[in-house]
Amino acid sequence: MMHPPLLEMVPERSSEAADHHPRRRHILAVPYPGRGHINAMLNLCKIIASNTTHRQLLITFVLTEEWFGFIGSDPKPSNIRFATIPNVIPSELVRAANMRGFFEAIQTKMPEPIEELLDRIQIEAPVAVIISEVFLKWAVDVGRPRNIPVALLWPMSAAAFSIFYHFDLISENGHFPFDLPAKGEEIVDYIPGIPSIRLADLPTVLHKENFDQILATFANIQRAQYLLFTSIYELEPQIINAIKPKFLIPLYSLGPLIPHFNLGQTKSSSRTKQEEQNYFEWLDAQTPNSVLYVSMGSFLSASNTQTDEIAAGLRDSGVSFLWVARGDTSRLKEICGPSGMLVHWCEQLEVLCHPSVGGFWTHCGWNSTMESVFAGVPMLTFPIVIDQLPNSKLIVEDWKVGWRVKRVAESMPTREEIADLVRRFMSFNSQERKEMMARVIKLRDIPRRALKEGSSGSNLISFLAHLGI
Ligand code: UDP
Repeated sequence: MMHPPLLEMVPERSSEAADHHPRRRHILAVPYPGRGHINAMLNLCKIIASNTTHRQLLITFVLTEEWFGFIGSDPKPSNIRFATIPNVIPSELVRAANMRGFFEAIQTKMPEPIEELLDRIQIEAPVAVIISEVFLKWAVDVGRPRNIPVALLWPMSAAAFSIFYHFDLISENGHFPFDLPAKGEEIVDYIPGIPSIRLADLPTVLHKENFDQILATFANIQRAQYLLFTSIYELEPQIINAIKPKFLIPLYSLGPLIPHFNLGQTKSSSRTKQEEQNYFEWLDAQTPNSVLYVSMGSFLSASNTQTDEIAAGLRDSGVSFLWVARGDTSRLKEICGPSGMLVHWCEQLEVLCHPSVGGFWTHCGWNSTMESVFAGVPMLTFPIVIDQLPNSKLIVEDWKVGWRVKRVAESMPTREEIADLVRRFMSFNSQERKEMMARVIKLRDIPRRALKEGSSGSNLISFLAHLGI
């Protein structure tokens, strides 16, 4: 049985704003229930809410009950409200244990409550567009019979999109099924717009998942009305140029969909909340560029043995580090010693932009990658699954703004090797480090310019104009 959606009251702007709003523009946003996915879509909604000139815009943003519990009380513009649907699986945070089962539950359990919710909120104000995700294939089937256009957001890089989209080409070239590690070093150089990439660096889901399911997900995009990218045109121009002509629907790259508009505000609110042992005060006390920020994503982590080895390596490097680690961190705290500050959660973009932070040990999630580029912080890459592998390749080989800790198929470096790598990476007088810093500072301009006078700002204006918002 469905739980009633938890709708917040949205303040009305004038007395003419009664039950029926002929002039109100209403957006329904339906993200995939995962941290990176929700963050990117919520940031997009916040950007839309602050960019529109439409006085009567209302955005209904759907969260599962569990996610509402995590972020329901976070500040947001008054014209965005949350609505809840039941959890897809009992605890979505443990979805890492069964990623495939979680993905399948999303395909079967989400559409019904979303349709019910949509029909209810349509009475209040007709929905002008559903913004959902490429992986929520059914969103198109929800919009179509109701004549509501659907915009599908792609949560990864354009390169990852192109790799998934050309899965048939990978198969035609004899590279599917993947024969790893035997063929891992073979070069894939036939995907339009994509610089040569090793087979082992392609997204892990392609290594084993259902061929037909992926092809169907990408064929479905053509049935939507808009395709939205979280990437930035100027960051991946050849790839986006190669993708665009394949689609009859408009493609707008709108990235980076990161909370740059909140910078400065989150820091002060965290301070007042005395959150997580005042990690900002700890950062303030460190010397410029001296801290390595360590985070391995919101739902997957390295194994316990790997984590212990990383902790010992970080400690032995002598470098100060701020580590976001989930679960019980008491053992980790013991290993790390006084040079490591451990927290369960932090305001990541704010941390990356802090002057004390000089490096990011990252699992290479796309949001984390974009945030590091935005902050101009070089990366130590430690990919675990899916698009984190091609992202690591992009960071290390194409942009040359990071070093690899290890590739997925490689064995784990020892604590001595980790300590040595971290020490060299953070030693900012070395020539190698100086050259890498020069490249990352140059790269940093791309998202900043894209948001102002570049493509993302103008794409957003075109997208909203198309919708009449
Ligand atoms: N994040 C954060 N604080 C943390 C850990 C993560 O704000 O302590 C945010 C991070 O800024 C990013 C998102 O969570 O926006 C993680 O998304 P990403 O695509 O990098 O990785 P995922 O966790 O989805 O694999």
